[in-house]
Amino acid sequence: MEEILRVVIGLIVLAAAFFTVSMLISRARAAGGSTGTIERRTRPAGTRTAPVRQGPAGVREEKAYVAPTGLAERVRALFRGGEATEETWRRLEEALIRADVGPRAASDLVARVRENLDTSADPAEVLVREIVGMFEGDGVWAVPSGAPAIVMVVGVNGTGKTTTIGKLAHLLSREGHRVTLAASDTFRAAAGEQLETWADRTGAHLVGQERGADPGAVAFDAVQAARARGSDVLIVDTAGRLHTRQPLMDELTKVKRVLEKAGGGVDEVLLVLDATTGQNGIAQARAFTEAVGVTGAVLAKMDGTARGGIVLAVREELGVPVRLVGVGEKLDDLVPFDPETFARRLVA
Ligand code: GDP
Repeated sequence: MEEILRVVIGLIVLAAAFFTVSMLISRARAAGGSTGTIERRTRPAGTRTAPVRQGPAGVREEKAYVAPTGLAERVRALFRGGEATEETWRRLEEALIRADVGPRAASDLVARVRENLDTSADPAEVLVREIVGMFEGDGVWAVPSGAPAIVMVVGVNGTGKTTTIGKLAHLLSREGHRVTLAASDTFRAAAGEQLETWADRTGAHLVGQERGADPGAVAFDAVQAARARGSDVLIVDTAGRLHTRQPLMDELTKVKRVLEKAGGGVDEVLLVLDATTGQNGIAQARAFTEAVGVTGAVLAKMDGTARGGIVLAVREELGVPVRLVGVGEKLDDLVPFDPETFARRLVA
């Protein structure tokens, strides 16, 4: 009898403890969700909370989940819980614009996902697939051929133009091509010296002149020198001060004309874009494309946290394919652009 009584008391104590703990947990939950907002914006870093929902008995529930640090989680969260509504699509577009893909590319992507999303698929995966699809037909970058092939490199100062030229020279010489560099940015004091350092490191031949010299004259000399030395590729550095200033664009047009005349044609005009650049990258790309007909983009500084969404905008709005990606400041840090790697990183 005493035994049974002890068991009953034990059960009562256990039930009381369980009840107290449940009460404490539900109070703590209610306190956490006290703002009453339906959806909170993602915080720049750290945790994000899920929408506050009304539970079956009108009890407020708030499910905390691991911070969606990127687009993938945001996209999955958008499509979680049933049918996509107009609001879902609007938010997807907004999320893409925030990832710097530009309004046009964002709207095109939403249309593609809308068309191809079936309810069983992972929406983030569908988005990746559709981003890859936007680069369809661009092909992998191949070293242009010529005697020599002429590659003109343009871009705003600071984007990584000179570093890209150095790395490109290395990539080409590693593949057995002889390279000449033309220091046609005669405006910026350090440009020539910087290029000289890269020429030394890569074994490329450098053609330059004093600061303030005519960039067209340097380009002309470089074509002659590259020919005389039997170079396979001539890479021409150009000035990159404010792309909005007409004199720069006039100067670039002139350099290109000289190269065409002296070298018989420019095989590639590469525009270097900084992956950390936001929407301003489109304006840069447009200005350079109008002036010198950009044939490909190089996305520099992809080794940091930047996702480089801007190239999607540039690809979509100007039809410029992305050719190479800069992933650091060392010689080997230039790699061919791979749409799938890019899409996964953007959506991650
Ligand atoms: P330019 O003015 O356009 O010729 O730019 P620079 O080539 O001088 O580069 C500007 C800065 O960006 C320098 O400090 C470079 O070392 C750095 N940089 C260039 N490309 C990359 C890259 O792919 N990754 C990183 N982390 N830094 C880069």
